[in-house]
Amino acid sequence: MNGQKTFCAEKFQGIERLKEKAWLATPTMHGDEQRWVDEAIRTNWVSTVGENINEVEQACARIVGRAYGVGLSCGTAALHLAIRLCGEKLYGQARVGTGTLAGRKVFCSDLTFDATVNPVAYEGGEAVFIDTDPDTWNMDPVALQRAFELYPDVKLVVVAHLYGLVGKIDEIVKIAHAHGALVVEDAAESFGATYRGVQTGTFGDVSIISFNGNKIVTGSAGGLLLTDSLDDANKVRKWSTQSREDAAWYQHEELGYNYRMSNIVAGVVRGNLNYLSEHIAQKKAVFERYRDSLRDLPLSMYPIGDACVPNFWLSCCILDQDAMCETVRGETEALYVASPGKSCPTEILEALSRFNAEGRPIWKPMHLQPIYRMHPFVTRSGSGRASTNAYIQGSTAFDVGADIFRRGLCLPSDNKLTTEQQDRIIEIIRRCFA
Ligand SMILES: *Cc1c(COP(=O)(O)O)cnc(C)c1O
Repeated sequence: MNGQKTFCAEKFQGIERLKEKAWLATPTMHGDEQRWVDEAIRTNWVSTVGENINEVEQACARIVGRAYGVGLSCGTAALHLAIRLCGEKLYGQARVGTGTLAGRKVFCSDLTFDATVNPVAYEGGEAVFIDTDPDTWNMDPVALQRAFELYPDVKLVVVAHLYGLVGKIDEIVKIAHAHGALVVEDAAESFGATYRGVQTGTFGDVSIISFNGNKIVTGSAGGLLLTDSLDDANKVRKWSTQSREDAAWYQHEELGYNYRMSNIVAGVVRGNLNYLSEHIAQKKAVFERYRDSLRDLPLSMYPIGDACVPNFWLSCCILDQDAMCETVRGETEALYVASPGKSCPTEILEALSRFNAEGRPIWKPMHLQPIYRMHPFVTRSGSGRASTNAYIQGSTAFDVGADIFRRGLCLPSDNKLTTEQQDRIIEIIRRCFA
């Protein structure tokens, strides 16, 4: 075999290790955050009530273009309550102990972080995974249309925007609504990205964003639910604070949660929020440097559809099929054969890590995850269950998500990357193909 079954140090001769680590995505504090945190402490609003929360709710709703925001402890909590809200609208209030989606199927993005889909299970539902559109790396409307033909009773679609890209969201919403289904939009990664000039976070019947530490705007944690209905906003706010009724004691008619945003966390978000466009501009510059410098290599940056202006949260690329060296991934480990002129995500990630730079594999598709492996999976041309290569087992249907997972990777995308760091990273990637 023309290659070696370990890291090939020869390829990287003369490259120096980065002195400062190049991160995937880290928080960027500006000082305003400290001011609002201090203010909360000085005035003793150290709780899940306070001015910072109110400000974050209003400011985010204004930026995105929705009537109401509800501050919550994290994006996952926001997704849970968004899905619960839709479940209740569709199927009525659930008995305690059974979720609002008990036994119901829900169509979900397949190529995403598991936080997008886990709340379907929290509510007792069964996620049916919809394959990915190769042109946008997001939910494929063709596969979604097929899914409605296969499962006409489904009434809920949970759709994510990956890495700050926006997929064919207008088509997805149209198909869902044509089938009488509601849409929960997971804009955790895409805050500030637009589709035909419209902000993500406005497309879902209910939408969410996240302020997790690695997102484009952060509060160290935190999330926000977005809606145009005052009733829904009030209901979610009530659920998030243990569902207390308006009574002289703790009176409960509904299941409650401790999901409210902290006023300290909200202080960090409130300060950081002013820098959304600055962070997007920095992330865009990182993306463009990769795009321009890697142009001659056998890989492409992720596809940005015509209608989409991304927030460039992460810069990701995908290797050409014929530039892939031999490689195989098990459940927790990967092997590859370092070969001249070829590479693979595992080799690139390993090389980056050795030189002190942090990349990341593409999200492993949900239908390939052990916990979801028995769930239905619908592609453009077929449906079935997990396959470890890019074809569905026992058929010729192509599995786009598995293919992007196999050939793609996230490059170090911190908005504070220096040009020197990025030049080094680019040289390392170049050497992988030597
Ligand atoms: C980060 C993220 C979430 C979850 O947000 P948390 O605030 O970390 O709970 C959900 N969906 C996607 C796609 C994400 O990237």
